[in-house]
Amino acid sequence: MSDPRQHIMPVYRPPEEAFERGEGVRLITEEGKSYLDFIGGIAVSSLGHSHPALVSALKDQAEKLWHTSNMFRVPAGEQLAEKMCARTFADRVFFTNSGTEAVEAAIKTARKYHWSKGDEDRFEIVTFTGAFHGRSLGAINAGGNPKYLEGFGPALPGFTQIEWGDHDALDAAVTNKTAAVFVEPVQGEGGVRAMPEQCLTGLRKLCDERGALLIYDEVQCGMGRTGQLFAHEWAENAAPDIMCVAKGVGGGFPFGACLTTEETGVVMQPGSHGSTYGGNPLAMAVGNAVWDIIADDDFLAQVRRVSGTVAQGLKSIADSHPDKVDGVTGKGLLTGIQLKALPKPVQNACREHGLLVGVAGNNVLRLAPPLTISDEDVREAVGVIDSALSEWTIEE
Ligand SMILES: *Cc1c(COP(=O)(O)O)cnc(C)c1O
Repeated sequence: MSDPRQHIMPVYRPPEEAFERGEGVRLITEEGKSYLDFIGGIAVSSLGHSHPALVSALKDQAEKLWHTSNMFRVPAGEQLAEKMCARTFADRVFFTNSGTEAVEAAIKTARKYHWSKGDEDRFEIVTFTGAFHGRSLGAINAGGNPKYLEGFGPALPGFTQIEWGDHDALDAAVTNKTAAVFVEPVQGEGGVRAMPEQCLTGLRKLCDERGALLIYDEVQCGMGRTGQLFAHEWAENAAPDIMCVAKGVGGGFPFGACLTTEETGVVMQPGSHGSTYGGNPLAMAVGNAVWDIIADDDFLAQVRRVSGTVAQGLKSIADSHPDKVDGVTGKGLLTGIQLKALPKPVQNACREHGLLVGVAGNNVLRLAPPLTISDEDVREAVGVIDSALSEWTIEE
């Protein structure tokens, strides 16, 4: 029999399992085997699978209207933008279909902001090692990962990358050519690393002093994932000028957004930017439903509480496997166990035991479960990871 996967461009390497349905924090195969999902479609399924409020929002909208394009008003998008702006630093929202497109919109807005003030030479975007901003040409240049740039032509001008945590390099890099400093408050792909809160505050101050904008990529760490609605809210006086969101905001429906202040966003006028699908009625119906659940103080308090259970569990794992684990990393429900070797075999062993987890750079086993997990789910996951680590032998 031919391989059913042969016509899929093999840029991914999925395991054998194929899931037929999802229920809360579980994914179930056609054969009925159930898995505890602690990666949640890579921090996307923020409310788990088949959440009733999301299913009904999507079904209701599907029966009314799917798409009109941005030639016409989308009232549900106007409502969602209003809610987002009421609750965050932002005054304006551009809806996209993905995180990468939110990143593109952010970079374009930052450059246009300085251009419109007559400062055409301020187009440099300063980023950090370990960054991940998506896979478009702009986003791979911002991300700076040589593996993702290789073979795709010359590196684009206007991106400067400095070492994560190198304050002197940062100080030297932010000049009168800098349009913006661009950073994930908690890096996802790059190893689940949280930028210390005082560094975010410091970054805001530095950008203000030098006339640069501050852009956060909260595509992975935002939307309740760390226990605040947005991860930078943990830090004092650290609001950005521009913020990219996606993943968790759609709970599995593909959409993202670029949020800006009034002063920054005003430069994007008719004709400056656009998207055929961005913010279409289906996406906005789901987006409002997700927002109404997650942007709620009690919901976020529960995320912080269960994050404590996760942190305790992972600490106990680290303590009982000092020969295999270097430490626990991340924040809230975007967290990881830093291993002493490549995490793939541990990820596979977890799956064999019915637990789905991810991996990230720096040998990290990554967890990004639905925000709706219970203490019971956490205990089960911790038990499986503990067994998988016990069975694992690091090859020399
Ligand atoms: C996933 C991710 C992106 C890209 O989002 P897509 O929806 O895959 O385009 C950008 N930035 C961060 C931090 C991400 O985690």
